[in-house]
Amino acid sequence: MEIKRNILLNPGPSTTTDTVKLAQVTPDICPREAEFADKMAELRQDLVRVVHGDPETYTAVLFCGSGTLNMDACLNSLLPEGKRALILHNGAYSSRALEICRYYGLPHIALEQPYDRPPDLAALEQIFQENPDIALLYATHNETGTGLLNPIRELGALAHRYQAVFIADTTSTYAMRPIHMKADNLDFCMASAQKGLMAMTGLSFVVGRKDFIEASRAYPRRSYYCNLYRQYEYFERTGEMEFTPPVQTVYAAVQGMKEYWAEGEQAKWERHTRVFQAICTGLSELGFRQLIVPEHRAGLVATVRYPDDPNWNFEQIHDFCYQRGFTIYPGKVGSAGTFRLCALGAIDTPDIQDFFQVFRQALKHCGVTAPVRYDEKENCK
Ligand SMILES: *Cc1c(COP(=O)(O)O)cnc(C)c1O
Repeated sequence: MEIKRNILLNPGPSTTTDTVKLAQVTPDICPREAEFADKMAELRQDLVRVVHGDPETYTAVLFCGSGTLNMDACLNSLLPEGKRALILHNGAYSSRALEICRYYGLPHIALEQPYDRPPDLAALEQIFQENPDIALLYATHNETGTGLLNPIRELGALAHRYQAVFIADTTSTYAMRPIHMKADNLDFCMASAQKGLMAMTGLSFVVGRKDFIEASRAYPRRSYYCNLYRQYEYFERTGEMEFTPPVQTVYAAVQGMKEYWAEGEQAKWERHTRVFQAICTGLSELGFRQLIVPEHRAGLVATVRYPDDPNWNFEQIHDFCYQRGFTIYPGKVGSAGTFRLCALGAIDTPDIQDFFQVFRQALKHCGVTAPVRYDEKENCK
């Protein structure tokens, strides 16, 4: 079977291998069979191993849904009665976490921080000092809307000094940037199968401390379908998801995991890094400026400022590239006009070189002068 290969430079779902795509074509199976439970058990163990979790201490809980479900489940399940959550708010995904808090009426404090640099840890510490009822700190590892890297290790250490649980949204770093549960001071992290694992959409997972999940049994149950303890307890008791799992997506994730181990943590991160470097080089050759300075980038998402050219038209450029098999993606930062190029997926530097050929043609096609120009002085990279 010949499957057209598209290069997805959007922040997930990402380009997959044909072997992952074809892993979904399997004999029909009822997911209540032991054979299928075995697949999920193996996958859960591997998901803990990816982040170097001790299997005695950490577990993985699978959900059928996109990555936002993990955020929802962690926030609604892990906050005890009468306690507050502290949300580090410095990007689009932490805005979503805040919105989840508001939907459930969870008592919370948001620390607003600039979207283009790491947070002020002293300001966070002050909030902990002034509010002894904070039981949970939540932050986003790679703020996918900008590509900003948040310092999870320091954030986790801070949370632990104040006896708070630390939850990091690692959806856009898991299985790409190496993560170590204990060394990075993580109690919970999360992702969905279509990002770092380079598998399919529809399967998400939380990796976290068993004892904290077990303690959450006594916390308010704020959701029926996405309660972390409930899903965990069902898995532990039966080996199954309580409700119908995304069967074919699980097969693809198992294959994605096999390919993850074959490539290796370090080699995979090096590949993402060289893809990202190729993106940065291609952009700077064309005069484009990124929103985040190099030292604050997570190394997976380039957020690019629109140039000051009257002919610049993101949709037209997108369509030109899309028709030629390359997908670029709009930005997600308030009012600044930006677009994103991401280094996720089963791609390598030749794909980025091919992309820039097409992108140059797209600029020419639209009449955008290259190298591009910015009206204001160099205040951005
Ligand atoms: C992709 C992503 C999610 C999940 O988003 P969905 O739209 O539910 O797939 C959550 N957090 C981060 C940081 C992400 O990059």
